[in-house]
Amino acid sequence: MSEKPKIALYWCASCGGCEEAVLDLAEKVLDLVNAVDIVFWPVAVDFKIEDVEKLPDKSITASLINGGIRLTEHEKVVKLLRQKSQYVIAYGACSAWGGIPGLANLYKREELLSRAYFEVPTVVNEEKVLPRTYKDEELGIEVEVPEVLPRLLPLDRVIEVDYYVPGCPPTPDVTWNAIQALLSGNLPPKGSVIGASSKALCDECPLNETKPDKLLIKEFKRITEFTPDPEKCLLAQGLPCLGPVTRGGCGALCIKANMPCTGCFGMLDNVSDYGAKALSFLASILDVEDEKEVERQVKEKIADLVGRLYRYTLPSSKLGGKVFKR
Ligand code: SF4
Ligand code: SF4
Repeated sequence: MSEKPKIALYWCASCGGCEEAVLDLAEKVLDLVNAVDIVFWPVAVDFKIEDVEKLPDKSITASLINGGIRLTEHEKVVKLLRQKSQYVIAYGACSAWGGIPGLANLYKREELLSRAYFEVPTVVNEEKVLPRTYKDEELGIEVEVPEVLPRLLPLDRVIEVDYYVPGCPPTPDVTWNAIQALLSGNLPPKGSVIGASSKALCDECPLNETKPDKLLIKEFKRITEFTPDPEKCLLAQGLPCLGPVTRGGCGALCIKANMPCTGCFGMLDNVSDYGAKALSFLASILDVEDEKEVERQVKEKIADLVGRLYRYTLPSSKLGGKVFKR
């Protein structure tokens, strides 16, 4: 019997980017598979749920779960992985806070289903059929189709999460740091972020020296309006870069491509609502008195306010999404 630690990987409501992020480890993937036994990884390895059910409780060292919880099937599988695992890791922004698919919480479930199955121009569905559990007469089995939950939830709203690995997706360095921390047992207190920095992105940004100590902006700009100077802090040039309120550890990849930070590494320690923090920060540097001018800049320059400030964290925010009247 192998004595190697057992690892499980699973995706919920995910774009697949976090699965690819594991493969982005490149040759380190070989180090990983030499160091561990992968016991469940539906996207790559043909183990079934029944194989996991047969494992003793807590026999999996760590389950790395990406994607938010959107289906009853996600709920079922993550609860099973929780039962079988010593550590559960929310891997990537969607699992940690809901991520980009969590922006669907701005709509009712019925609106989402209607859009996806009836309204998009590429769909022809005259009988208005929705996915549902059915009996396959030929095979003689009931094919169970999971239900869509009313809202997308971050993983920790469904099961207890031990650690969080941020990023959309996590970079190879962050993934490797997190795996090494798990395998070495050299872990911070439960509930911590692992693999990334504890400081804001500005701290590691190559443009940090050009960021004024006291920064005030007369007008925000959109990235489509001009080509930013690649040698100068993007925020100082008027782009609403979220580096000051976002956890570092990504290596400032977007900044190096002359794009402002959109916040995919999420909030710093002791911040519970990323969007509220980001809004408060941007408001604090906007040097404008006139309310109408503030409104104009929010509409025209910040544009999609929720999509910008809560792009990765809406389901984990105080409201969790749009609140509908019953
Ligand atoms: S965190 Fe980003 S890369 Fe990972 S599943 Fe979500 S959207 Fe995709
Ligand atoms: S605000 Fe943005 S561009 Fe400026 S130092 Fe911070 S991360 Fe870099």
